[in-house]
This record gives sequence, C-alpha cells and structure tokens, in this order.
Amino acid sequence: MNALAKTILVITAFLGLSLIDAEPQAAQKAEQKFIIIGTGGVTGVYYPAGGAICRMLNKGRKTHGIRCSVESTGASVYNINAIRQGDLDFGVAQSDTQYNAYNGKGKFKGKAYKDLRSVFSLHPEAFTIVARDESGIEEFKDLRGKRFNIGDPGSGTRANAESIMRNLDWTLDDFELATELKIDEAPQAMCKNAIDAFAFTVGHPSSWAKEATTTCSSHLVDVTNEGARKLVEGHPYYSWATIAGDQLYGDPKPTRTFGVRATLVTSAQIPDDVVYELVKAVFENLDSFKKLHPAFAVLNKRDMVQSALTAPLHPGAEKYYREVGLLK
Ligand code: GLU
Repeated sequence: MNALAKTILVITAFLGLSLIDAEPQAAQKAEQKFIIIGTGGVTGVYYPAGGAICRMLNKGRKTHGIRCSVESTGASVYNINAIRQGDLDFGVAQSDTQYNAYNGKGKFKGKAYKDLRSVFSLHPEAFTIVARDESGIEEFKDLRGKRFNIGDPGSGTRANAESIMRNLDWTLDDFELATELKIDEAPQAMCKNAIDAFAFTVGHPSSWAKEATTTCSSHLVDVTNEGARKLVEGHPYYSWATIAGDQLYGDPKPTRTFGVRATLVTSAQIPDDVVYELVKAVFENLDSFKKLHPAFAVLNKRDMVQSALTAPLHPGAEKYYREVGLLK
C-alpha cells in the first residue's frame, strides 16, 4: 500500500470513528460562537471589567460553546456606535451615554438607537480631573485659559467635559489649548508639561489614578460649580460623587465631583442564549468577579439589575433575572 492509500485509510477510519462516537459533540462545536466586548483604554477600569466578564464566561466554554474576547477602544460612545454597526457584540458604556443613545440625545442627537439593550450595571464612576500642582487649578472653572485634555472623541468622559462646558457657556476657545489624547497617553503628557490637566470619568480606586497622581506633582480637582449642579439636578443618571481621601493617591482630602455608573450594553440582534449565558456566568461567580478589580468591591446583584439602566433589558438577561428572582 502506498503512502497516499495508507493516509486515505487512516482518514476514513478517523472519520468513521468520529461520526459514530462524537455526534453530539460535533453538533455542539458547530455552534461555537465568538463574541467581542468593547471596553476602553488599557489603563482604565472598562478594560479589566470586560476581561473579568470574559473570564467568567470562558470558564463554561465547553458547555455553552461561546468564546469571549475584549477589545480596547475609545470607550462609551465608540462602543455603542460599534455595536450599532455590528462591529462589537457587547460594550461597556456610561449610564448617561446609554440614556442619550437610546433616546437620541447629546452625541446621539437625531440618531436614537432603539435596538440598544441593557444587560446589567457595573461600578460607579466619578468625573475625575487631574491637574499639575504648579497649574493652580483647584476647581473645574480654573481650567479657563489652561491646556486641558478634553478627551478622546469616542469617550463618555469627553461628553461629560462638553456638558459642563455647555452649562458654563464655554467653548474650546476658553482653553489655551484643548487636546484629544487617549486616556492612556494623558498622564504622561501632563508630567512632561505638555498639558496642565486632563479628565477621566472612571471607577475608583484604580491603579490608573494612583499612577496619574504620583508620577509627578499633581492632584485631583473638585467639580462642584453650577455647570455640574445643572447636570446633577436635571438628570436622574447623574449624582454627586466623592473620591475618598484615603483612596486619594497622595492627598488626604476628599475630592467632590459628579458621577455616573458603568453599564454593560448590547444589541437586540444578539441571540437570547448568548446574553443569558453571559449574565449567568457573571452572576453565579460574582464573588470571584468582585475580586478582579478594587472598583468592583461595591457591586451587588440588586443594583446591577435595577439601577442606571435606561435602554430595555435584553430578553436573555431578563430571563435569567426572573429565574433567580431578581425581577418579579
Ligand atoms: N467612562 C469612561 C468613558 O467612557 C471609560 C472608563 C474606563 O475606561 O474605565 O469615557
């Protein structure tokens, strides 16, 4: 028998065997699904949040056939636009961005995205401004005439900075320089004295803020002016937030600002079973999930299902919440 004939014999035997023994498995493999979660910059909290969700989901890959991976992106606004275009399956987004996208407001004016679905909410986030000590910036209003990184155009941070500016009747001309650096680049730019301050709407505590405030002489800045007050008093998804002094990375005094909540969103087009398995994996392993980042320590199941979600719940998520009694 020549080599080719032998090979054919081996292949036939292998195929025969696998057809007889492994039919159910083969059927399962054919349903293998790949999902991508859009996050934020690698130094933020969205990136590890997406990683933690995938880690929980991938543990059960053999049974549900879903393989989850994350992508680093410009964050909230980018993620929702990419879900809409079908480039991402899930994304982490601020609660205010979720509201605006579903209702066609703010950055989504005239472009309401009615297929947006909420999955659960995550950690609280505070609108955080870091400024060089020498800049003399103590409140958002002191940014006038300074070099300020208003943030990546795809971020919820940028939308927050623009809302405050609008409420104060400021334009970009009110700054000496307004930059659009990604959050991963901003601390270094500040320490090199290329900018005076930058914004980041982010969960605390985080290694990012520690690095940002300890690499060179800098501090966190209060945001309590009337621009912030208009946001908090006029919208249910904004609230006052305090970044505790002891989290404060080298400054014992607390910082007062406003905040939102991070949420996980998807599209109505994503199959129910995929969303169901993702939610189940996170909720059944919430204790291990919470250990994956210090900003997750405050998470509890009831809040994750009931607060900060404005788009309708995805039916796959709703099915799980009803099953375990988190929704009546
Ligand atoms: N909230 C931020 C944004 O959408 C991202 C925060 C993070 O990456 O942890 O701009």
